[in-house]
Amino acid sequence: MKIRITVLPGDGIGPEVTSQAVNVLKSVADVCGYNFEFVTRPIGGTAYTETGHPFPKSTMEACLDCNAVLLGAVGGPHFDTAPTHLRPEAGLLQLRQALGGFANLRPAIAFDATEACSPLRPEIRRGADILIIRELLGGLYFGEPRAHDRDNKGAYNTMRYSEHEVERIARIAFEQARNRRKKLMSVDKANVLETSRMWREVVTRVGKDYPDVTLEHQYVDSFAMQMILTPSRFDVVVTENLFGDILSDEAAVISGSLGMLSSATIGGSVDLFEPVHGSAPDIAGKNMANPLGAIASAAMLLRYSAKLTSEADSIDAAIRATLDAGYRTPDILAKNSDRKPNTTAQVGVRVTEALSDLLNRRIAYHAV
Ligand code: NAD
Repeated sequence: MKIRITVLPGDGIGPEVTSQAVNVLKSVADVCGYNFEFVTRPIGGTAYTETGHPFPKSTMEACLDCNAVLLGAVGGPHFDTAPTHLRPEAGLLQLRQALGGFANLRPAIAFDATEACSPLRPEIRRGADILIIRELLGGLYFGEPRAHDRDNKGAYNTMRYSEHEVERIARIAFEQARNRRKKLMSVDKANVLETSRMWREVVTRVGKDYPDVTLEHQYVDSFAMQMILTPSRFDVVVTENLFGDILSDEAAVISGSLGMLSSATIGGSVDLFEPVHGSAPDIAGKNMANPLGAIASAAMLLRYSAKLTSEADSIDAAIRATLDAGYRTPDILAKNSDRKPNTTAQVGVRVTEALSDLLNRRIAYHAV
């Protein structure tokens, strides 16, 4: 097994959390005898400072010439005065465009250990484990025509989808559901929107190829409420771009902290893996950022780009073991806790140790 991973640490806490995620991947490679090659390149404000551009050509080339990209985060107050096209966020958009992924996967998991950090009551969130799949390249955000028509004192955007765009995201969602609890919820607004009526028709048609997956449809307004009232009912959720943008942020409250959330963007020429959080300038350089979202993104990289399912499962199990052993960065430490918070590095090292144990035990079991 040989894979090349382009690592883009970025700005703020990006390098701190990414280095922990890379250590975890190195541990998988060492214990299992795989060859993971890491190529590190600048992006965002760091790249702008070094090269004058937030997404330099050498970074783009490295991203297009690898099996997967692992990103930290970009942005920060120092760069807020840069011209719009040179701001760190512009580099991120150029990266996403260059890779061309159309499916954004965001898990929302209710770890028992973060119960005290979620605004949801424990009995409501317990057992919740949802995978939200958002269509990323179509719909209202990209549809033409669009304009702010100042002469006529109005503005408009266009929500547009082709059957092909719906079919390809539906297939990804059914495949994911097939590998999980075999339930797929398709979210739309088919009582009002033509695009949603077509979405529902196409998803239903694709579903005929996946008879083992139970498909349900729900309107977005009702689903937004149900996801918070009874999150443990849902398994995989697929929806269009705008609805997915809103619902995936709403689902974040299930996990308890932004620092726990991972994501994958797949379907393009190279897949992209990144924690959901930004560069958190308020805590950058203080060794207090939660690295678990970045580490869980590394697990997604192994699952989706390297097809190393068992190793990805082991990373997820090592994250749980670390939490169960009481390790907490400040963002997930209960307010009334008398424990001292752990540093970013302490949590990362503990995950790596737990992972090595799990992998070694697995190897020993298969050797018997
Ligand atoms: P943010 O996600 O950086 O931070 C929001 C809050 O969450 C802060 O209080 C921060 O300390 C906390 N937080 C975030 N990640 C954490 C972690 N891993 N551990 C512990 N606490 C964590 O969002 P923001 O403050 O709105 O944005 C800061 C900068 O990041 C801006 O420049 C913004 O443009 C950029 N940004 C980048 C991305 C990205 O790179 N994908 C995403 C969002 C924001």
